[in-house]
Amino acid sequence: MAHALPDLDSLRPAGSKRSSKREFILDTFLRHEGHLSADDLYDLIHREDQHISRATVYRALQWMVEAGIARKVDFGEGRSRYEHSYRHPRHFHLICQTCSRSSEFLSSDIEALIEEIAAARGFTSGQSVLQIYGTCEECRTGREAPSDAVTTELLFARDALRIAIATERSGFEFYTRAARVARDAHGQAVFQKLADEEREHLGTLEQRYQRLLANDPRLESRPTFLFFKGAANGLFAAGAEQVARGVDDKQALMIGIRCERASHRFFKRYGERFEDSEGKQIFLEFASEERVHLELLIREYRALARRLERRPRARSSVRRPRAQA
Ligand SMILES: [Zn+2]
Ligand SMILES: [Zn+2]
Repeated sequence: MAHALPDLDSLRPAGSKRSSKREFILDTFLRHEGHLSADDLYDLIHREDQHISRATVYRALQWMVEAGIARKVDFGEGRSRYEHSYRHPRHFHLICQTCSRSSEFLSSDIEALIEEIAAARGFTSGQSVLQIYGTCEECRTGREAPSDAVTTELLFARDALRIAIATERSGFEFYTRAARVARDAHGQAVFQKLADEEREHLGTLEQRYQRLLANDPRLESRPTFLFFKGAANGLFAAGAEQVARGVDDKQALMIGIRCERASHRFFKRYGERFEDSEGKQIFLEFASEERVHLELLIREYRALARRLERRPRARSSVRRPRAQA
């Protein structure tokens, strides 16, 4: 995957001249994933160019933070570390106190909980920092564990696709079941159409997933970045269970509407908050597909309601009071 760099000319502070030293420091920083301290970066620079001073490296780092290229993180070691912020999704950290290595993850459930707590306290939340200190798998077992030492952007895209695929799969399951139980011919046709669409999208997403894997032969086995336990996974699964227990066409459509709406909202809201990246694109594209399904279901729900109204009632279950003479 092409790793686009920020437009440096637009980021450069007004009036500052092109500095080849600064370009070199920036380039070195961007070539190294992870969380570098200013001294780590200085050591890397110094290996290649002995004419760049420590102070120049510090100043360049400060400039990168101000320009939004680097983000300062504090792992409680008494010194700051710096990570990429451009096209780097927000995340939380696991920090090993034995080897000092850190790895990144994100959880939609934790973020939802943080928002819920902030809202309950009338608090507008900005940045949330969550750091888990302890011992990593390698230090604990002595065995080499798959590392997340690729770009987080790649892991994020992989996990966004996994979530979209899981949701699409349970959507397909839901519509297939709904088509089986639908009594109304129109309703049946709509569910069948949606099931076919979900299957087609599933195929497209799986191809995209395969293309992504071509970037890194070990990508599949690398640690999970994005955890989404309660968020999108269960949306359609719960709907499919309800349908299996027996519902009429109107109820089935209503369940479909609820699932698609929740899915659309989740992917849109969650996706919008990320930095520009492939993962963000995946979330937003998937959100708009879900929106199309939602609109189709709403149209069909209204059409069904109109058909039911027009249909002459075979037997009225409610006896009307006789009009008074
Ligand atoms: Zn460790
Ligand atoms: Zn980080």
